[in-house]
Amino acid sequence: AMEKIRAAGLLRTRGLIGGKWVDAYDGKTIEVQNPATGEVLANVACMGNRETADAITSANTTFYTWSKLTASERSKALRKWHDLLMSHKEELALLMTLEQGKPMKEALGEVNYGASFIEFFAEEAKRVYGDIIPPTLADRRLLVLKQPIGVVGAITPWNFPLAMITRKVGPALACGCTVVVKPSEFTPLTALAAADLALQAGIPAGALNVVMGNAPEIGDELMQSMQVRKITFTGSTAVGKKLMAGSANTVKKVSLELGGNAPCIVFDDADIDVAVKGSLAAKFRNSGQTCVCANRILVQEGIYEKFASAFVKAVQSLQVGNGLEESTSQGPLINEAAVQKGANIMLGGKRHSLGMSFYEPTVVGNVSNDMLLFSEEVFGPVAPLIPFKTEEEAIHLANDTNAGLAAYMFTKNIARSWRVSEALEYGLVGVNEGLISTEVAPFGGVKQSGLGREGSKYGMDDYLEIKYVCMGNL
Ligand code: ADP
Repeated sequence: AMEKIRAAGLLRTRGLIGGKWVDAYDGKTIEVQNPATGEVLANVACMGNRETADAITSANTTFYTWSKLTASERSKALRKWHDLLMSHKEELALLMTLEQGKPMKEALGEVNYGASFIEFFAEEAKRVYGDIIPPTLADRRLLVLKQPIGVVGAITPWNFPLAMITRKVGPALACGCTVVVKPSEFTPLTALAAADLALQAGIPAGALNVVMGNAPEIGDELMQSMQVRKITFTGSTAVGKKLMAGSANTVKKVSLELGGNAPCIVFDDADIDVAVKGSLAAKFRNSGQTCVCANRILVQEGIYEKFASAFVKAVQSLQVGNGLEESTSQGPLINEAAVQKGANIMLGGKRHSLGMSFYEPTVVGNVSNDMLLFSEEVFGPVAPLIPFKTEEEAIHLANDTNAGLAAYMFTKNIARSWRVSEALEYGLVGVNEGLISTEVAPFGGVKQSGLGREGSKYGMDDYLEIKYVCMGNL
Protein backbone atom coordinates (compact mmCIF):
# COMPACT_ATOMS: atom_id res chain seq x y z
CA ALA A 1 0.00 0.00 0.00
CA MET A 2 2.86 2.41 0.77
CA GLU A 3 4.05 1.78 -2.81
CA LYS A 4 0.88 3.43 -4.11
CA ILE A 5 1.59 6.52 -2.02
CA ARG A 6 5.20 6.61 -3.20
CA ALA A 7 4.15 6.16 -6.82
CA ALA A 8 1.79 9.13 -6.47
CA GLY A 9 4.77 11.18 -5.24
CA LEU A 10 3.03 11.79 -1.92
CA LEU A 11 5.39 10.04 0.48
CA ARG A 12 7.17 12.92 2.18
CA THR A 13 9.26 12.26 5.29
CA ARG A 14 11.11 15.54 5.74
CA GLY A 15 9.90 18.84 7.15
CA LEU A 16 8.92 21.75 4.90
CA ILE A 17 10.74 25.02 5.57
CA GLY A 18 10.71 27.92 3.11
CA GLY A 19 9.49 25.66 0.31
CA LYS A 20 12.31 23.12 0.79
CA TRP A 21 12.05 19.59 2.17
CA VAL A 22 14.60 19.39 4.96
CA ASP A 23 15.94 16.76 7.37
CA ALA A 24 16.24 17.41 11.08
CA TYR A 25 19.46 19.40 11.53
CA ASP A 26 20.92 16.63 13.70
CA GLY A 27 19.67 13.93 11.32
CA LYS A 28 17.27 12.44 13.89
CA THR A 29 14.15 10.60 12.75
CA ILE A 30 11.10 9.02 14.39
CA GLU A 31 9.04 6.06 13.29
CA VAL A 32 5.48 6.34 12.06
CA GLN A 33 3.58 3.12 12.74
CA ASN A 34 0.40 1.56 11.41
CA PRO A 35 -1.78 1.20 14.55
CA ALA A 36 -3.58 -1.83 13.04
CA THR A 37 -0.44 -3.88 12.49
CA GLY A 38 2.46 -2.22 14.29
CA GLU A 39 4.30 -2.07 10.96
CA VAL A 40 6.70 0.87 10.55
CA LEU A 41 5.43 2.93 7.62
CA ALA A 42 8.22 5.50 7.44
CA ASN A 43 10.89 7.32 9.39
CA VAL A 44 10.24 11.04 9.45
CA ALA A 45 12.45 13.96 10.45
CA CYS A 46 12.40 14.58 14.20
CA MET A 47 12.77 18.35 14.51
CA GLY A 48 13.08 20.76 17.42
CA ASN A 49 13.60 24.44 18.19
CA ARG A 50 16.23 25.26 15.57
CA GLU A 51 14.17 24.03 12.64
CA THR A 52 11.11 25.76 14.10
CA ALA A 53 13.01 29.06 14.38
CA ASP A 54 13.90 28.84 10.68
CA ALA A 55 10.34 27.95 9.74
CA ILE A 56 9.12 31.02 11.63
CA THR A 57 11.67 33.24 9.87
CA SER A 58 10.57 31.93 6.51
CA ALA A 59 6.88 32.43 7.36
CA ASN A 60 7.63 35.94 8.56
CA THR A 61 9.49 36.89 5.39
CA THR A 62 6.76 35.44 3.19
CA PHE A 63 4.05 37.27 5.16
CA TYR A 64 5.09 40.56 3.57
CA THR A 65 4.51 39.25 0.05
CA TRP A 66 1.60 36.82 0.61
CA SER A 67 -0.46 39.37 2.54
CA LYS A 68 0.05 41.94 -0.23
CA LEU A 69 -1.47 39.76 -2.94
CA THR A 70 -5.05 40.49 -3.86
CA ALA A 71 -7.71 38.37 -2.22
CA SER A 72 -8.52 36.96 -5.62
CA GLU A 73 -4.93 35.79 -6.14
CA ARG A 74 -4.87 34.03 -2.78
CA SER A 75 -8.29 32.60 -3.49
CA LYS A 76 -7.12 31.06 -6.78
CA ALA A 77 -4.14 29.32 -5.14
CA LEU A 78 -6.38 27.91 -2.40
CA ARG A 79 -8.95 26.77 -4.94
CA LYS A 80 -6.23 24.93 -6.83
CA TRP A 81 -5.03 23.30 -3.60
CA HIS A 82 -8.60 22.12 -2.97
CA ASP A 83 -8.78 20.62 -6.45
CA LEU A 84 -5.47 18.79 -5.97
CA LEU A 85 -6.59 17.39 -2.60
CA MET A 86 -9.73 16.09 -4.27
CA SER A 87 -7.93 14.61 -7.27
CA HIS A 88 -5.62 12.73 -4.84
CA LYS A 89 -8.48 11.64 -2.60
CA GLU A 90 -7.81 7.90 -2.84
CA GLU A 91 -4.10 8.17 -2.02
CA LEU A 92 -4.66 10.61 0.84
CA ALA A 93 -7.37 8.42 2.35
CA LEU A 94 -5.18 5.34 2.06
CA LEU A 95 -2.30 7.13 3.73
CA MET A 96 -4.63 8.27 6.50
CA THR A 97 -5.97 4.78 7.14
CA LEU A 98 -2.43 3.42 7.22
CA GLU A 99 -1.07 5.87 9.78
CA GLN A 100 -4.23 6.63 11.76
CA GLY A 101 -6.29 3.42 11.56
CA LYS A 102 -9.73 4.79 10.66
CA PRO A 103 -11.79 2.79 8.15
CA MET A 104 -11.22 3.78 4.49
CA LYS A 105 -14.79 5.03 4.22
CA GLU A 106 -14.22 7.47 7.09
CA ALA A 107 -10.83 8.42 5.66
CA LEU A 108 -12.42 9.26 2.30
CA GLY A 109 -15.04 11.24 4.22
CA GLU A 110 -12.29 13.16 5.97
CA VAL A 111 -10.54 14.04 2.72
CA ASN A 112 -13.83 15.52 1.47
CA TYR A 113 -14.35 17.32 4.76
CA GLY A 114 -10.73 18.49 4.96
CA ALA A 115 -10.72 19.77 1.38
CA SER A 116 -14.06 21.51 1.93
CA PHE A 117 -12.40 23.98 4.32
CA ILE A 118 -9.91 24.97 1.64
CA GLU A 119 -12.70 25.49 -0.88
CA PHE A 120 -14.89 27.40 1.58
CA PHE A 121 -12.09 29.72 2.70
CA ALA A 122 -10.90 30.24 -0.88
CA GLU A 123 -14.33 31.79 -1.34
CA GLU A 124 -14.33 33.68 1.97
CA ALA A 125 -10.95 35.23 1.08
CA LYS A 126 -12.88 37.59 -1.21
CA ARG A 127 -15.30 38.68 1.52
CA VAL A 128 -13.09 40.29 4.14
CA TYR A 129 -15.08 43.51 4.37
CA GLY A 130 -14.37 46.50 6.58
CA ASP A 131 -16.80 49.19 7.76
CA ILE A 132 -17.41 52.88 7.37
CA ILE A 133 -18.85 54.29 10.60
CA PRO A 134 -21.01 57.44 10.64
CA PRO A 135 -18.76 60.05 12.28
CA THR A 136 -19.54 62.00 15.45
CA LEU A 137 -17.84 65.11 14.06
CA ALA A 138 -18.72 66.55 10.65
CA ASP A 139 -15.13 66.88 9.39
CA ARG A 140 -14.13 63.29 10.17
CA ARG A 141 -14.49 59.92 8.45
CA LEU A 142 -14.16 56.74 10.48
CA LEU A 143 -13.02 53.52 8.81
CA VAL A 144 -12.50 49.97 9.96
CA LEU A 145 -9.92 47.79 8.17
CA LYS A 146 -9.50 44.05 8.64
CA GLN A 147 -5.91 42.91 8.25
CA PRO A 148 -4.17 39.55 8.59
CA ILE A 149 -2.72 39.01 12.03
CA GLY A 150 0.70 37.74 10.85
CA VAL A 151 2.56 34.48 11.37
CA VAL A 152 0.40 31.69 12.80
CA GLY A 153 1.61 28.61 14.70
CA ALA A 154 -0.84 25.71 14.22
CA ILE A 155 -0.55 22.59 16.41
CA THR A 156 -2.82 19.70 15.46
CA PRO A 157 -3.79 16.21 16.72
CA TRP A 158 -3.91 12.73 15.18
CA ASN A 159 -7.65 12.01 15.17
CA PHE A 160 -8.32 14.05 12.01
CA PRO A 161 -4.88 14.20 10.37
CA LEU A 162 -6.05 16.36 7.45
CA ALA A 163 -9.16 18.28 8.49
CA MET A 164 -7.69 19.75 11.69
CA ILE A 165 -4.93 21.26 9.55
CA THR A 166 -7.06 22.59 6.69
CA ARG A 167 -9.58 24.09 9.10
CA LYS A 168 -6.79 26.30 10.45
CA VAL A 169 -4.54 26.77 7.43
CA GLY A 170 -7.47 27.51 5.06
CA PRO A 171 -8.70 30.65 6.83
CA ALA A 172 -5.16 31.70 7.83
CA LEU A 173 -3.91 31.69 4.23
CA ALA A 174 -7.16 33.18 2.96
CA CYS A 175 -6.71 36.18 5.26
CA GLY A 176 -3.10 36.66 4.17
CA CYS A 177 -1.40 35.05 7.18
CA THR A 178 1.49 32.59 6.81
CA VAL A 179 1.71 29.44 8.87
CA VAL A 180 4.02 27.04 10.68
CA VAL A 181 2.16 23.75 11.16
CA LYS A 182 3.14 21.11 13.69
CA PRO A 183 1.15 17.96 13.00
CA SER A 184 0.92 15.11 15.49
CA GLU A 185 3.96 12.83 15.53
CA PHE A 186 1.52 9.90 15.09
CA THR A 187 0.15 11.21 11.78
CA PRO A 188 2.70 13.44 10.01
CA LEU A 189 2.49 11.67 6.63
CA THR A 190 -0.98 12.95 5.71
CA ALA A 191 0.07 16.48 6.75
CA LEU A 192 3.22 16.35 4.62
CA ALA A 193 1.36 14.96 1.60
CA ALA A 194 -1.21 17.77 1.88
CA ALA A 195 1.60 20.34 2.16
CA ASP A 196 3.21 18.91 -0.97
CA LEU A 197 -0.05 19.47 -2.84
CA ALA A 198 -0.19 23.04 -1.50
CA LEU A 199 3.21 23.74 -3.06
CA GLN A 200 2.05 22.21 -6.32
CA ALA A 201 -1.03 24.44 -6.20
CA GLY A 202 1.15 27.54 -6.10
CA ILE A 203 0.92 28.41 -2.40
CA PRO A 204 4.30 30.19 -2.26
CA ALA A 205 7.38 28.75 -0.53
CA GLY A 206 7.34 29.90 3.08
CA ALA A 207 3.60 30.58 3.31
CA LEU A 208 3.02 27.07 4.64
CA ASN A 209 5.79 25.39 6.65
CA VAL A 210 5.64 22.03 8.42
CA VAL A 211 7.86 20.94 11.32
CA MET A 212 7.39 17.90 13.54
CA GLY A 213 9.23 15.89 16.18
CA ASN A 214 9.85 17.20 19.67
CA ALA A 215 6.44 18.70 20.53
CA PRO A 216 7.38 20.67 23.68
CA GLU A 217 10.45 22.14 21.98
CA ILE A 218 8.53 23.16 18.85
CA GLY A 219 5.68 24.49 21.00
CA ASP A 220 8.05 26.56 23.15
CA GLU A 221 9.76 28.06 20.11
CA LEU A 222 6.42 29.05 18.62
CA MET A 223 5.21 30.55 21.90
CA GLN A 224 8.38 32.51 22.66
CA SER A 225 8.72 34.00 19.17
CA MET A 226 7.83 37.67 18.84
CA GLN A 227 7.05 37.10 15.16
CA VAL A 228 4.39 34.45 15.76
CA ARG A 229 1.22 36.48 16.42
CA LYS A 230 -1.18 33.65 16.96
CA ILE A 231 -1.30 30.08 18.21
CA THR A 232 -4.12 27.87 17.04
CA PHE A 233 -4.37 24.44 18.65
CA THR A 234 -6.58 21.38 18.61
CA GLY A 235 -5.84 18.72 21.20
CA SER A 236 -6.03 17.93 24.88
CA THR A 237 -7.18 20.45 27.46
CA ALA A 238 -3.95 19.98 29.44
CA VAL A 239 -1.69 20.95 26.52
CA GLY A 240 -4.09 23.75 25.51
CA LYS A 241 -3.75 25.33 28.94
CA LYS A 242 0.05 25.17 28.66
CA LEU A 243 -0.04 26.90 25.28
CA MET A 244 -2.40 29.58 26.58
CA ALA A 245 -0.13 30.26 29.56
CA GLY A 246 2.95 30.18 27.33
CA SER A 247 1.42 32.71 24.93
CA ALA A 248 0.89 35.25 27.72
CA ASN A 249 4.48 36.47 27.68
CA THR A 250 4.24 37.75 24.11
CA VAL A 251 0.46 38.42 24.30
CA LYS A 252 -0.44 36.27 21.34
CA LYS A 253 -3.94 35.56 20.24
CA VAL A 254 -4.92 31.96 20.93
CA SER A 255 -7.60 29.73 19.48
CA LEU A 256 -8.13 26.44 21.27
CA GLU A 257 -10.24 23.42 20.39
CA LEU A 258 -9.92 21.23 23.46
CA GLY A 259 -11.53 18.17 24.97
CA GLY A 260 -15.27 17.64 25.11
CA ASN A 261 -17.47 15.52 27.35
CA ALA A 262 -20.49 15.48 25.10
CA PRO A 263 -23.87 14.57 26.57
CA CYS A 264 -26.35 12.82 24.32
CA ILE A 265 -29.82 13.15 25.84
CA VAL A 266 -32.49 10.67 24.80
CA PHE A 267 -35.94 11.81 25.99
CA ASP A 268 -38.97 9.55 26.43
CA ASP A 269 -40.57 11.23 23.43
CA ALA A 270 -37.66 10.44 21.06
CA ASP A 271 -38.05 8.43 17.88
CA ILE A 272 -36.13 5.39 19.06
CA ASP A 273 -34.68 4.44 15.66
CA VAL A 274 -33.43 7.98 15.07
CA ALA A 275 -32.03 8.08 18.63
CA VAL A 276 -30.18 4.76 18.31
CA LYS A 277 -28.77 5.59 14.89
CA GLY A 278 -27.81 9.12 15.92
CA SER A 279 -26.17 8.22 19.22
CA LEU A 280 -24.35 5.30 17.61
CA ALA A 281 -22.88 7.64 14.99
CA ALA A 282 -22.09 10.32 17.59
CA LYS A 283 -20.35 7.79 19.83
CA PHE A 284 -18.52 5.34 17.59
CA ARG A 285 -17.23 7.46 14.72
CA ASN A 286 -13.43 7.19 14.51
CA SER A 287 -13.69 4.48 17.22
CA GLY A 288 -14.83 7.13 19.69
CA GLN A 289 -11.73 9.23 19.16
CA THR A 290 -13.20 12.64 18.41
CA CYS A 291 -13.72 15.59 20.73
CA VAL A 292 -17.39 15.79 19.70
CA CYS A 293 -18.07 12.09 20.37
CA ALA A 294 -21.05 11.40 22.62
CA ASN A 295 -19.29 10.67 25.89
CA ARG A 296 -22.35 10.33 28.14
CA ILE A 297 -25.63 8.95 26.87
CA LEU A 298 -28.37 10.22 29.20
CA VAL A 299 -31.56 8.22 28.81
CA GLN A 300 -34.93 9.08 30.35
CA GLU A 301 -36.33 6.28 32.51
CA GLY A 302 -39.47 5.67 30.45
CA ILE A 303 -37.43 4.71 27.39
CA TYR A 304 -34.30 3.41 29.14
CA GLU A 305 -34.85 -0.37 28.78
CA LYS A 306 -36.06 -0.15 25.21
CA PHE A 307 -33.26 2.19 24.15
CA ALA A 308 -30.55 0.21 25.98
CA SER A 309 -31.42 -3.07 24.31
CA ALA A 310 -31.74 -1.51 20.82
CA PHE A 311 -28.48 0.37 21.34
CA VAL A 312 -26.59 -2.75 22.50
CA LYS A 313 -27.89 -4.58 19.45
CA ALA A 314 -26.68 -1.81 17.14
CA VAL A 315 -23.27 -1.76 18.80
CA GLN A 316 -22.99 -5.53 18.40
CA SER A 317 -23.25 -5.08 14.65
CA LEU A 318 -20.15 -2.86 14.50
CA GLN A 319 -17.33 -4.66 12.73
CA VAL A 320 -13.90 -4.27 14.32
CA GLY A 321 -10.88 -4.66 12.06
CA ASN A 322 -8.14 -3.21 9.92
CA GLY A 323 -9.44 -0.04 8.27
CA LEU A 324 -8.27 -1.26 4.87
CA GLU A 325 -10.90 -4.02 4.90
CA GLU A 326 -14.20 -3.11 3.29
CA SER A 327 -16.32 -4.55 6.14
CA THR A 328 -14.60 -2.60 8.93
CA SER A 329 -16.60 0.07 10.73
CA GLN A 330 -14.32 0.27 13.79
CA GLY A 331 -10.57 0.57 13.31
CA PRO A 332 -7.93 0.31 16.02
CA LEU A 333 -7.27 2.99 18.58
CA ILE A 334 -4.31 5.25 17.81
CA ASN A 335 -1.94 3.12 19.91
CA GLU A 336 -1.85 0.53 22.66
CA ALA A 337 -1.64 3.14 25.40
CA ALA A 338 -5.17 4.20 24.44
CA VAL A 339 -6.63 0.81 25.43
CA GLN A 340 -8.03 1.03 28.97
CA LYS A 341 -10.40 -0.93 31.18
CA GLY A 342 -14.10 -0.21 31.68
CA ALA A 343 -16.61 -1.33 34.37
CA ASN A 344 -20.31 -2.34 34.84
CA ILE A 345 -20.51 -3.78 31.40
CA MET A 346 -23.46 -4.65 29.13
CA LEU A 347 -21.31 -5.38 26.09
CA GLY A 348 -17.60 -5.57 25.26
CA GLY A 349 -15.28 -4.12 27.90
CA LYS A 350 -11.94 -5.57 26.96
CA ARG A 351 -9.19 -5.63 24.42
CA HIS A 352 -10.46 -7.08 21.14
CA SER A 353 -9.26 -10.53 20.06
CA LEU A 354 -7.38 -8.83 17.18
CA GLY A 355 -5.02 -7.67 19.95
CA MET A 356 -2.66 -4.71 19.66
CA SER A 357 -4.55 -1.44 19.74
CA PHE A 358 -8.01 -2.91 19.03
CA TYR A 359 -10.73 -2.51 21.70
CA GLU A 360 -14.21 -4.02 21.76
CA PRO A 361 -17.09 -1.59 21.20
CA THR A 362 -18.45 -1.32 24.73
CA VAL A 363 -21.70 -0.31 26.41
CA VAL A 364 -21.79 0.36 30.17
CA GLY A 365 -25.19 0.56 31.85
CA ASN A 366 -26.51 2.55 34.85
CA VAL A 367 -23.61 4.97 35.11
CA SER A 368 -24.00 7.85 37.61
CA ASN A 369 -22.39 11.26 37.90
CA ASP A 370 -20.01 10.24 40.72
CA MET A 371 -18.20 7.83 38.40
CA LEU A 372 -15.02 8.63 36.50
CA LEU A 373 -16.77 7.53 33.30
CA PHE A 374 -19.13 10.51 33.76
CA SER A 375 -16.53 13.19 34.32
CA GLU A 376 -13.68 12.10 32.05
CA GLU A 377 -13.50 12.17 28.28
CA VAL A 378 -13.11 8.51 27.24
CA PHE A 379 -11.77 8.98 23.69
CA GLY A 380 -12.50 5.37 22.79
CA PRO A 381 -15.38 3.06 21.85
CA VAL A 382 -17.02 3.01 25.29
CA ALA A 383 -20.62 4.24 25.66
CA PRO A 384 -21.91 4.84 29.21
CA LEU A 385 -25.71 4.92 29.64
CA ILE A 386 -26.93 7.23 32.41
CA PRO A 387 -30.61 7.07 33.45
CA PHE A 388 -32.51 10.27 34.38
CA LYS A 389 -36.07 11.23 35.33
CA THR A 390 -36.88 14.84 34.34
CA GLU A 391 -35.82 17.40 31.75
CA GLU A 392 -34.37 19.62 34.52
CA GLU A 393 -32.27 16.72 35.77
CA ALA A 394 -31.03 15.99 32.24
CA ILE A 395 -29.97 19.62 31.74
CA HIS A 396 -28.25 19.66 35.12
CA LEU A 397 -26.36 16.42 34.40
CA ALA A 398 -25.46 17.57 30.89
CA ASN A 399 -24.00 20.86 32.15
CA ASP A 400 -22.30 19.29 35.19
CA THR A 401 -18.82 19.32 33.59
CA ASN A 402 -15.97 21.72 32.84
CA ALA A 403 -16.22 20.85 29.17
CA GLY A 404 -18.64 22.49 26.69
CA LEU A 405 -18.04 21.45 23.11
CA ALA A 406 -20.80 19.32 21.55
CA ALA A 407 -24.14 18.14 22.94
CA TYR A 408 -26.88 16.05 21.34
CA MET A 409 -30.53 15.48 22.12
CA PHE A 410 -33.26 13.26 20.75
CA THR A 411 -36.87 14.38 21.13
CA LYS A 412 -39.92 14.87 18.92
CA ASN A 413 -41.16 17.78 21.03
CA ILE A 414 -40.30 21.08 19.32
CA ALA A 415 -40.76 23.27 22.40
CA ARG A 416 -38.45 21.01 24.37
CA SER A 417 -35.81 21.03 21.64
CA TRP A 418 -35.71 24.85 21.81
CA ARG A 419 -35.71 24.95 25.62
CA VAL A 420 -32.96 22.40 25.99
CA SER A 421 -30.84 23.81 23.11
CA GLU A 422 -30.82 27.18 24.87
CA ALA A 423 -30.10 25.69 28.30
CA LEU A 424 -27.13 23.56 27.23
CA GLU A 425 -23.77 25.20 27.98
CA TYR A 426 -22.18 23.97 24.77
CA GLY A 427 -20.79 25.42 21.55
CA LEU A 428 -22.60 22.95 19.26
CA VAL A 429 -25.94 21.22 19.69
CA GLY A 430 -27.30 18.40 17.53
CA VAL A 431 -31.08 17.93 17.65
CA ASN A 432 -32.13 14.50 16.38
CA GLU A 433 -28.79 14.24 14.61
CA GLY A 434 -25.45 12.74 15.67
CA LEU A 435 -23.13 14.00 12.93
CA ILE A 436 -23.34 17.78 12.64
CA SER A 437 -19.90 19.10 11.63
CA THR A 438 -19.69 21.00 8.34
CA GLU A 439 -17.35 23.63 6.97
CA VAL A 440 -20.20 26.14 6.66
CA ALA A 441 -21.11 26.13 10.39
CA PRO A 442 -19.07 27.44 13.35
CA PHE A 443 -17.27 24.81 15.41
CA GLY A 444 -15.91 25.51 18.88
CA GLY A 445 -16.46 25.15 22.58
CA VAL A 446 -17.34 27.09 25.71
CA LYS A 447 -15.93 26.67 29.24
CA GLN A 448 -12.71 24.63 29.19
CA SER A 449 -13.43 23.22 25.73
CA GLY A 450 -11.76 26.21 24.18
CA LEU A 451 -11.68 29.64 22.60
CA GLY A 452 -12.57 30.81 19.12
CA ARG A 453 -14.55 29.26 16.29
CA GLU A 454 -13.42 27.34 13.23
CA GLY A 455 -15.24 26.93 9.94
CA SER A 456 -18.02 29.24 8.66
CA LYS A 457 -17.71 32.99 8.09
CA TYR A 458 -16.72 33.32 11.78
CA GLY A 459 -13.67 31.12 11.15
CA MET A 460 -11.98 34.09 9.43
CA ASP A 461 -12.20 36.38 12.48
CA ASP A 462 -9.56 34.45 14.42
CA TYR A 463 -6.94 35.38 11.80
CA LEU A 464 -7.81 39.05 11.40
CA GLU A 465 -6.95 42.19 13.32
CA ILE A 466 -9.34 45.12 13.34
CA LYS A 467 -7.83 48.51 12.63
CA TYR A 468 -9.67 51.78 13.15
CA VAL A 469 -8.61 54.64 10.92
CA CYS A 470 -9.83 58.16 11.73
CA MET A 471 -9.45 60.74 8.96
CA GLY A 472 -9.75 64.21 10.52
CA ASN A 473 -9.90 67.88 9.46
CA LEU A 474 -11.45 67.01 6.14
P1 ADP B 1 -4.18 14.20 21.93
O1 ADP B 1 -4.71 13.63 23.21
O2 ADP B 1 -5.21 14.57 20.94
O3 ADP B 1 -2.99 13.50 21.38
P2 ADP B 1 -2.32 16.25 22.69
O4 ADP B 1 -2.70 17.55 23.29
O5 ADP B 1 -1.42 15.37 23.42
O6 ADP B 1 -3.72 15.63 22.38
O7 ADP B 1 -1.71 16.46 21.24
C1 ADP B 1 -2.17 17.41 20.32
C2 ADP B 1 -0.98 18.07 19.66
O8 ADP B 1 -0.25 18.78 20.66
C3 ADP B 1 0.01 17.09 19.04
O9 ADP B 1 0.50 17.66 17.83
C4 ADP B 1 1.10 17.01 20.08
O10 ADP B 1 2.34 16.65 19.54
C5 ADP B 1 1.11 18.44 20.58
N1 ADP B 1 1.73 18.64 21.90
C6 ADP B 1 1.80 17.79 22.93
N2 ADP B 1 2.46 18.33 23.96
C7 ADP B 1 2.84 19.58 23.57
C8 ADP B 1 3.56 20.67 24.18
N3 ADP B 1 4.02 20.60 25.43
N4 ADP B 1 3.75 21.78 23.44
C9 ADP B 1 3.27 21.89 22.20
N5 ADP B 1 2.60 20.91 21.58
C10 ADP B 1 2.37 19.77 22.25
